[in-house]
Amino acid sequence: MNLILLGPPGAGKGTQAAKIVEKYNIPHISTGDIFRENIKNGTELGKKAQEYMNAGQLVPDELVVEIATDRLNADDCKNGFLLDGFPRTVFQAEKLDEFLAAKGDKVDCVLDIDVPRDELMIRLTGRRVCKNCGASFHVVNIPPKQEGICDVCGAELVQRADDNEETASNRIDVYNKETKPLVDYYEAAGNIAHIDGTTGLENVFNTITEILGD
Ligand code: AMP
Repeated sequence: MNLILLGPPGAGKGTQAAKIVEKYNIPHISTGDIFRENIKNGTELGKKAQEYMNAGQLVPDELVVEIATDRLNADDCKNGFLLDGFPRTVFQAEKLDEFLAAKGDKVDCVLDIDVPRDELMIRLTGRRVCKNCGASFHVVNIPPKQEGICDVCGAELVQRADDNEETASNRIDVYNKETKPLVDYYEAAGNIAHIDGTTGLENVFNTITEILGD
């Protein structure tokens, strides 16, 4: 099962991804997470990506395609994968299709989660993530049991550098301009499902499992 999660920043892709990979036992591949890990570890890749990320801009296609296809070459992707935050441009989607076609493979389903802009801004600016395990909370919608502390591992919760008002707004604009055209791209391929991302975490997940089946 080769899956893609599509949708603007704040649509709940990361939250749904965690549930999907648990149910279907496939690896979760988030290019954003790969970049953040590299920034944390001070690698060359991290240094190159950081500037773009902090501005809410896309990291250049060539760099992203390289790290994504590297990851997809790993053994654990042989029986499928869930891509979250990749592809984000038509160029990236074409490169992904070429990469998979060379292995006689393809994208099976694109899950497109839609949420209106006002709601995205509330979600992004209120989001807090665990410094240690990456678990995601929201100051109002999903508050941790103890303010500023992760329910899962007890580490500190922080705001992502790109979740401030200005950068979040910019990221939504970039999504609409660069990534939204992928809806038409996958519409033409006939493998996209549209999901209302405002119905609540469990309802969204139920809709996804109805689409994917057992
Ligand atoms: P995310 O965690 O998916 O919201 O990604 C955070 C940031 O990482 C984005 O705003 C981009 O700067 C960068 N990024 C992640 N994935 C990609 C991608 N597929 N193409 C370009 N930039 C990306």
